[in-house]
Amino acid sequence: MIFRQLFEPLSSTYTYLVGCSDTGQAVLVDPVIVSVERDLEVIAGLGLTLAYSVDTHVHADHITAALALKEKTGSRIAAPAAERVACADVQLEEGKPFRVGGLAFQPLHTPGHTAGHFAYLLGDRVFTGDALLIEGCGRTDFQQGDTDALYRSVRDKLFALPDDTLVYPAHDYQERRVSTVMQEKKRNPRLGGERTLEEFRHIMAGLNLPYPKFIDYAVPGNKQCGVCPADLPEHLDKYCRQMTESPQG
Ligand code: FE
Repeated sequence: MIFRQLFEPLSSTYTYLVGCSDTGQAVLVDPVIVSVERDLEVIAGLGLTLAYSVDTHVHADHITAALALKEKTGSRIAAPAAERVACADVQLEEGKPFRVGGLAFQPLHTPGHTAGHFAYLLGDRVFTGDALLIEGCGRTDFQQGDTDALYRSVRDKLFALPDDTLVYPAHDYQERRVSTVMQEKKRNPRLGGERTLEEFRHIMAGLNLPYPKFIDYAVPGNKQCGVCPADLPEHLDKYCRQMTESPQG
């Protein structure tokens, strides 16, 4: 397997490049529209061909690069069926492995951050999207978010994976890159240890997070597989502009 963790600094998103070393086929997990050129350069540099993009959920903080990648390279778009993204070429379901070359991703329905959120298990690692972050988790107050569902998704499904499974989240705001299931079971202040559902509800209800500034544009754009809205106010146009530097998270 060929593997790269790439970082998009505006939304602090991690995009994962996974390549099959036998066939040269590659997948981008949660690619961001502003970093399309950077991601394609990395793929070309590794001698890979992009076969698919796959998102963990309909994002509210950035526009997916799925459609832009398809237009530029002919790659196909995979998305969780539960997110009802009609433009996706492949609708992923739990229990049906998503195969690319010799790679087999196991889609795991992990609702709570959004109702249709999926994580993807690939051998010894899991891409947890916004369900499980390093010592944190995604918010549950928008997009059919559900605190009780997220508690069950993380505790019953992600924490049930082998302890040494590597946890690769969709975001980190403190430059942490990877964790493990055991590390989150022990250290996650929201969901680890003996945290009860009651305590988790209390934590999530008390976050007092601001209204996401890009959500009203990102969600409709992402339901169309990554369309930059035409009516984007000037102060938000950086969310659709090409990334100028190439920080390699
Ligand atoms: Fe999200």
